Amino acid sequence: MNLVLFGPPGAGKGTQSKILTQTRSLPQLSTGDMLRAAIEAGTPLGLAVKALMDRGELVPDETVIRIIAERYDQSDCKNGAVFDGFPRTIPQAEALDEMLAERGRKIDLVLELKVDDAVLLSRVEARIKAGGILRSDDTPETLAHRLKVYYKNTAPLIDYYRGQGKLKTVDGMAPVETVTAQIAQVLDGVPA
Ligand code: AMP
Repeated sequence: MNLVLFGPPGAGKGTQSKILTQTRSLPQLSTGDMLRAAIEAGTPLGLAVKALMDRGELVPDETVIRIIAERYDQSDCKNGAVFDGFPRTIPQAEALDEMLAERGRKIDLVLELKVDDAVLLSRVEARIKAGGILRSDDTPETLAHRLKVYYKNTAPLIDYYRGQGKLKTVDGMAPVETVTAQIAQVLDGVPA
């Protein structure tokens, strides 16, 4: 199964993707994690994207499409994957459809985690208050910008996938276990 977890920054896509790696034995393909790993390793890719990511801007479509295709061709994706934070633009979604079609595959389901902006902001504030290790883009100011980018570039994908009949929406403001249970219910209804 190829599954896209979709939603605004901080909606819980990463948390739920990780749970799905355990419960459905599907690898989590997070472009954000891959880009952060490149920054950490100091690779040319990392150097190229760091400033954009710190500002909460999207990195170029060609860059993320390339890293996703390379990752998807690894053997652990033979039964599919959970796409987390990708696609984020219409060209990315089209490239993903094309990449999968070339491999005789397709997106089976797009799960939208719906979370209000005020809840996203209060989650960032709670993380700051808790004083954990924060990402450089995990501040109220950068979140506000990332949300703008989300509504402008990424939210149009809702109609794109709705048009394909693949979109299912889950209340991402419920407690984590409830969201997990709702996702399981949706997935159990998808034909294998
Ligand atoms: P995330 O961890 O998914 O919240 O992504 C963190 C940052 O990585 C984003 O704010 C973007 O700068 C960059 N990024 C991750 N995925 C993508 C993508 N699919 N397209 C463009 N930029 C991305």
